[in-house]
Amino acid sequence: MNSKVTSSSTRSESPNSPWRTALATSAATDVGMRRSANQDSYCITLADDREKWERSGHLLIVADGMGAHAAGELASRLSVDLIPHHYAKLNRGDPIGAILQAVEEANSEIYRRGQANPEFRGMGTTTSALLLLPAGAILAHVGDSRIYRLRGQTLEQLTFDHSLVWEMRASGEVGEEMLRNNAVPKNVITRSLGPNPNVQVDLEGPFPLQNGDRFLLCSDGLSGQLTDEEIGILLGSLDLDMAVRAMIDLANLRGGPDNITVAVAEIRGDELVTKSVLPTPPPEDRPSYPIGFGIAGVVCALAAVVLLMVKQIPLAAVSVAAAFVAGISGWIKMMKFDSSGDRSARLGRGPHRKAQCKPSADFVKQITGVIQELQEWMVESGVQVDQRELDAAIALGQRETAARNYKQAIQHYCEVLTAMMRNARVKADDRDDESIDY
Ligand code: CA
Repeated sequence: MNSKVTSSSTRSESPNSPWRTALATSAATDVGMRRSANQDSYCITLADDREKWERSGHLLIVADGMGAHAAGELASRLSVDLIPHHYAKLNRGDPIGAILQAVEEANSEIYRRGQANPEFRGMGTTTSALLLLPAGAILAHVGDSRIYRLRGQTLEQLTFDHSLVWEMRASGEVGEEMLRNNAVPKNVITRSLGPNPNVQVDLEGPFPLQNGDRFLLCSDGLSGQLTDEEIGILLGSLDLDMAVRAMIDLANLRGGPDNITVAVAEIRGDELVTKSVLPTPPPEDRPSYPIGFGIAGVVCALAAVVLLMVKQIPLAAVSVAAAFVAGISGWIKMMKFDSSGDRSARLGRGPHRKAQCKPSADFVKQITGVIQELQEWMVESGVQVDQRELDAAIALGQRETAARNYKQAIQHYCEVLTAMMRNARVKADDRDDESIDY
């Protein structure tokens, strides 16, 4: 079981600078329980100092490769290597334009490499990139990896899954029941980087940053095994490293059919909080009265005056009505323009989904159930654990559950869960290539 883990706070200008602790991140990728290779990749590129952050922000990317296994690995690796490189090169004061172009250039390069070598032909990768900028969070996204934001107990999926299921639901052509019954395969994606010379990239945001906001990027190896509510509860209850670890462990304990990658970031303190509001639309975009309606109204009104003078009362009345209709229509059109003008200041249509994620007795029961099964498996398989330490943590979990402190209970039980999985891992590695069957 190969697992790569990173965790950090932003590097500092001076050791005591609030900048140092302004953003905390943690990430890990795991091959899962069924696959022999990990085709997921991620990167976290943090600005070294405030000046760089103001220009380019912090960048996090998760990519999930597909194709014959070496091809999938290469595609996702190229995505997380090329995008930060191109973005840094292209960003000359327009980070949004630069990240879009960087993703498009990565697509061209992956496509070119795929065409050049028959072994890599048709390789592709999802790519979900999160930029944390002074103006807020900007997302560039292709495929079905996801970016979530947790604020308080509300988890929002900021990205749209480019999957058959989501596209069909959005088209409104198939009923919810059909989608729920798994009549539509869940793993078919409709867009990725690499297979075609051009790609359509979703841009979303800016989403203003608040103190305490937590962002999570993941591949479908996580979102396929945990519900949004579970992801939100774990992200909101645990410290970042533990949240990443516990989510991966839980996905593996549910079968781990796919590679699992999770990257998280937390805004801490006021340094990165978005202070400015969205820029107002430029003057030419501001609503103005549509000139055609104005002219029609004035012509009708003048006609009414002339007709009155020649005593054509019925015709004059009709002209007055026409002038009135033209005037009102123009006003309605202007109001409609106004609302679309507002939307144009925002990119994309996210958030695309919301879940309330309150730590609950039900969720605690889920976790304790998993722990119990794992304990039974460990006894059967002869895996050594420090039972006293685990029992102590379980006792704390039980006490917090009885006091209805579910968040604290989840913390204790996740400690137990991750400790047991660490031991299971050691055992699995000892047994070399034998796979564990939960
Ligand atoms: Ca996957």
